[in-house]
Amino acid sequence: MKKVRLFVNENEKSRETANELTELLYSRGFTITEENYEIAISIGGDGAFLRMVKETDFDPSIYYIGIHTGTLGFLPEVLPNELKEFVSYLEYGDYKVNEVGVLETIVECKKDSKHFISLNEIVVRDSLLNSLTLDIKLENELLERFKGDGMLVSTSIGSTAYNLSFGGSMVYFKLHTLQLTPIAPFNSNSYRNLQNSVIIPEYVPIEMMPVEKNDLLLTIDGENHYIKGVTKINTKVGNKKIKRLRYHNVPFSKIIKEKFLG
Ligand code: NAP
Ligand code: MN
Repeated sequence: MKKVRLFVNENEKSRETANELTELLYSRGFTITEENYEIAISIGGDGAFLRMVKETDFDPSIYYIGIHTGTLGFLPEVLPNELKEFVSYLEYGDYKVNEVGVLETIVECKKDSKHFISLNEIVVRDSLLNSLTLDIKLENELLERFKGDGMLVSTSIGSTAYNLSFGGSMVYFKLHTLQLTPIAPFNSNSYRNLQNSVIIPEYVPIEMMPVEKNDLLLTIDGENHYIKGVTKINTKVGNKKIKRLRYHNVPFSKIIKEKFLG
């Protein structure tokens, strides 16, 4: 594999790292190109990794890897002071690769339907951020009639992002799960809701049907979509997987400790 594409964050540290990496890659016979590349490298943080995957349309044939130039990231794992060793790894590498499931969401509306792909999560809320009611079904069985601000569905990789801020759990990346995290669930004598996240295998489809209010705000990996007349949201990890090239294989507990406990 000799063709590489770079996705560089707009800051000095990332640009410097990109320049250094470019020189090293050229000196070892690599080409940097925007077409027919085999390896995609982000330089930045988790956000940069996410944008790279999105910009390349979640391509299952590419190897994705990130260099972290910001605060410690969960997704990018190469350090800027490791570029030489990293380029040797790319040159001679006996590649370690993880397959990462991608969340596929179909939103059925009164007239048509829409299709979305995400790596971290989807967030379902009322379009005006008022409360909403959702019938949530797992394996064709009603789990609950949810009432509250909304519902977040996160992959394992996304579990350390938005999901965590809404009180969800961090899930070991090697586990292939989806997590349903309620956002401000009502809890009174009139409305009983699950107050905690439910973690399910990633292949179990989730259905969410809005009751009464059908105009929703869907946030897909941080991008907002206002969708009118929604009748049903189907989401699951299908057969589509992307390849995450591993470098350090940093233990999950180590990243958590460094990122959250200092
Ligand atoms: P943003 O404002 O650019 O902020 C995203 C923050 O989430 C950054 O600090 C980013 O880390 C971090 N992040 C992204 N993916 C992560 C992952 N898989 N594990 C751990 N941290 C992660 O966000 P955006 O562009 O609107 O949306 C991108 C993602 O950010 C969303 O998918 C969502 O998960 C997350 N987000 C979180 C909140 C929140 O926690 N309140 C709010 C909005 C969005 P880096 O600094 O390393 O890039
Ligand atoms: Mn690292």
